[in-house]
Amino acid sequence: MKKRSKILILILAPTILLVSFLLLVFSKRETFFSLKGNNSITINIDQKYKDEGYTAKYCTKFLHLFCKDISSNVKITSTEDNNIYNYNIIYTLKYGNTSKELKREVKVKDIESPNIELVENNEELCENQEYVEPGYKAIDNIDGDITDKVVVEKKDNKVFYTVSDSSGNKKVTIRTIKYGDSVKPSIILTGGELNYVYINTDFTERGYKANDNCDGDITDKVKVISNIDTSKEGNYEITYNVSDSKGNTSTQTRKVVVYSDTSAIPKNGKTVYLTFDDGPGPYTDDILDILKRYNIKATFFVTNQFSNYKNLINREYSEGHTVAIHTYSHKFKEVYSSLDAYLNDFNNMNQIVYEETGNYSKIFRFPGGSSNTISKFNPGIVTAIANKMTELGYTYFDWNVDSNDTGTKDPNTIYQNVIREIEKRNSSVVLMHDIKKANIESTQKIIEYGLNNGFTFLPLTESSPVTHHHINN
Ligand code: ZN
Repeated sequence: MKKRSKILILILAPTILLVSFLLLVFSKRETFFSLKGNNSITINIDQKYKDEGYTAKYCTKFLHLFCKDISSNVKITSTEDNNIYNYNIIYTLKYGNTSKELKREVKVKDIESPNIELVENNEELCENQEYVEPGYKAIDNIDGDITDKVVVEKKDNKVFYTVSDSSGNKKVTIRTIKYGDSVKPSIILTGGELNYVYINTDFTERGYKANDNCDGDITDKVKVISNIDTSKEGNYEITYNVSDSKGNTSTQTRKVVVYSDTSAIPKNGKTVYLTFDDGPGPYTDDILDILKRYNIKATFFVTNQFSNYKNLINREYSEGHTVAIHTYSHKFKEVYSSLDAYLNDFNNMNQIVYEETGNYSKIFRFPGGSSNTISKFNPGIVTAIANKMTELGYTYFDWNVDSNDTGTKDPNTIYQNVIREIEKRNSSVVLMHDIKKANIESTQKIIEYGLNNGFTFLPLTESSPVTHHHINN
């Protein structure tokens, strides 16, 4: 029995081996396709994706033998999800008649915090001032503008801006508020930094204003130090000092020249003849006071429209101004009705001038100026008057600067109208009216400007530069 078994094994064993071998060789082969690593992975946004690869082979179904590497037959594509930060990697294997697809999910995690940009404000904030948010913006790499999600909290001198993006990345930005006051107050001098005062007249303060960035109007804290002695000619200074509540100090200085002779004042070579028409009237006295204060001489083209004030013609004359004839009635229809009517009106006025001053005037100004057209109801009358008056030895003056004081009641506008024009000419004859209230103030301003800028003020005389309009009638 032992011998028989041995023989049987000797025969059977090779047979089994052979059959097995044949089975292996001729058994069907198929594709084997799998991913290395996980088929769902998460990476950080700043991380580079690295594919872990796959295996693709063609082997016997049984025992996976006789494999052939077919990984070069795999194509990799990527599909985007709705969110570009999540996507799938598709691995497609095509080999023979088989086609297989594998998918790996890649999730990108946002680990980047949003960014908060603060609008800069380096200005100091006064302690009593309310904090005003200068502005901010929050931008996230994924969510975009999330400014509306920022929580702002103010604690003492710090402002905390906190925001989180949809992935929970939080950002806190801090602004430090600069409390303090290192800014000096400002002092503004009205009436110019250089003033002229005629000797033995009162100097009136021209005005000032002090303002502080934190304390506001502190004009009442200004200390004025002045050593002006208006009884003595010379250069003086007024010092204006002010300190704010934090001790920041400012100083301004005004120079004041007390003079007895205007010719001692530096000159720019330009002359201004201030002329006042239609008075004397209710404001003539005040205007004469202003002229007296600065020792400025002007010219008054007088009328008898307000006969109660005719005694002021005497004051005009005795204070050194030129008294000239405008018209007795100032009624154009009458004055220009004939040459005789004009001469009659003129002589009536000159007679009053004579009574008030002891002298007849040789200077006149046409009602409406020599260029007036209102007289055209009597053709040629202005030409006839001009010829006759010249023949009689009179001199007339028109003007080359119109203050336009008949067009406004604002002293500053009148002042601006005048100073703008006198700057353009070497010799200005300025038309004003002493029956206009605004000219009390505008005259003072014009004189201050003129003296401070080197203009010479003179009264008209027969030898002053001829200033004539074109005669239209
Ligand atoms: Zn007039």
